[in-house]
Amino acid sequence: MRLILLGPPGAGKGTQASAIVEKYGIPHISTGDIFRYNIKEGTELGKKAKSYMDKGLLVPDEVVVEIVEDRLKKDDCKDGFLLDGFPRTVVQAEALDEVLKNMDISLDKVINIEVDKEILVGRAVGRRICKNCGATFHIKHNPSTKGDICDKCGGELYQRDDDNEETVTKRIQVYLDQTAPLIEYYNKQDKLVTIDGDKEINKVFKDIVVSLGSDL
Ligand SMILES: [Zn+2]
Repeated sequence: MRLILLGPPGAGKGTQASAIVEKYGIPHISTGDIFRYNIKEGTELGKKAKSYMDKGLLVPDEVVVEIVEDRLKKDDCKDGFLLDGFPRTVVQAEALDEVLKNMDISLDKVINIEVDKEILVGRAVGRRICKNCGATFHIKHNPSTKGDICDKCGGELYQRDDDNEETVTKRIQVYLDQTAPLIEYYNKQDKLVTIDGDKEINKVFKDIVVSLGSDL
């Protein structure tokens, strides 16, 4: 199964990605991870990417695509993969199609997890994190029984600076504006499956599996 996973920050993409790669036995390819890997290992591609990052510049598409292509050609991708964090733009999506075409393969589906903006904002603004162990809570949906104190370790809970309403709203809007053309692109290719992410985690996963035409 060759898949792309899309979803705004806070939609539960990470949790679903883990469940998908386990079920289908495919690698989870997060662009963040492969960038870090290439830079840490000092590969040619890593050096190339780092030269831009060191100057505070965005890594150009051609380098990003090259890094993804290199990863997709590894042995563990022969039965499929789950791409996460790439492509982000239509230009990148077109480049990816070209890469896959040259490899004589194509995408099966693009999974888009959708959650209303208001719900995403509520999820982020209510989030509390333990200073000591990093456990996360939510004041409404998953509160600590001890109020501002962590249930697990007794540490103090705090709210991240960027989890305020204004920053979160902006973060989500940027994502939505950026991905709207991408969603349209895959919709036209008839590859897009839209999943309602405002459900219980297991139910969202079941919906994904069914949308991919697999047995639960
Ligand atoms: Zn704790």
